[in-house]
Amino acid sequence: MQITGLLTKMHAEMGSPIQYCLNFKEETLSVNQLLGKKLTIEFSHYQCLACEREKEIFAMGYCKNCYFTSPYAGAWIVRPELSTAHLGKADRDLAVETQMQLQPHIVYLANSGGIKVGVTRKTEIPTRWIDQGAEYALCLAETTNRYEAGLIEVALKQHLSDKTNYRKMLRQPAPFEDLATLKENILHLIPQDLQPYILEDQPIHHLEYPVNHYPQKVNTLNLKKIPRFEGTLLGIKGQYLIFDDNRVFNVRSHEGFVIRISSFL
Ligand SMILES: [Zn+2]
Repeated sequence: MQITGLLTKMHAEMGSPIQYCLNFKEETLSVNQLLGKKLTIEFSHYQCLACEREKEIFAMGYCKNCYFTSPYAGAWIVRPELSTAHLGKADRDLAVETQMQLQPHIVYLANSGGIKVGVTRKTEIPTRWIDQGAEYALCLAETTNRYEAGLIEVALKQHLSDKTNYRKMLRQPAPFEDLATLKENILHLIPQDLQPYILEDQPIHHLEYPVNHYPQKVNTLNLKKIPRFEGTLLGIKGQYLIFDDNRVFNVRSHEGFVIRISSFL
């Protein structure tokens, strides 16, 4: 098998375990089927996900110019409390922001080896959890827009992280923690006017990743530094491919890279 194509994040579907695929223009590659196989990944060139030009990728699959101008890379993406579409106020492009921000959002608790609070559009459940490598997740509140969800997250961040510790997430399965009890213990932190958005009687979701072997430590592969590597695929978790020799490849941080991927039996 050999494919040359533009790398975008892995598409994932719930299953036991979760099923991952890479969507290239010409074909779709089931990543689960590559487990146990030897792969070569080689950097060819850049292709910005927004302007499609061959310019160095800066972040999120965008070149520097697009990262600082695209409405899909505004600060409100990482910090939902900065959303302003509900005020009719533009950040970069009000039409895009209205469409993205003014829809139901979920505030959730997730355990990926550390417990965090997060915000996502309702339609991104469970994709968001899978992308973060969460093993347990619980919906905590459903709001009418991104700004309100951001305010709840800010209130809960006093007691919880909003970051995933990816090294911890990649080294072992997350131990079970009672997210439902944790939720009850932190609800008082949510401001009074946002309390009506709290969800009751939510299940704790369990997510199962296709990992045959966890690395003892985590060495990150970076195609900007070393443009080609070869390794046996041992697992998939979050947006990471786990290889032998304690090496991991973050697919997300290589969006916008055109790569050649080959596998041998
Ligand atoms: Zn660009």
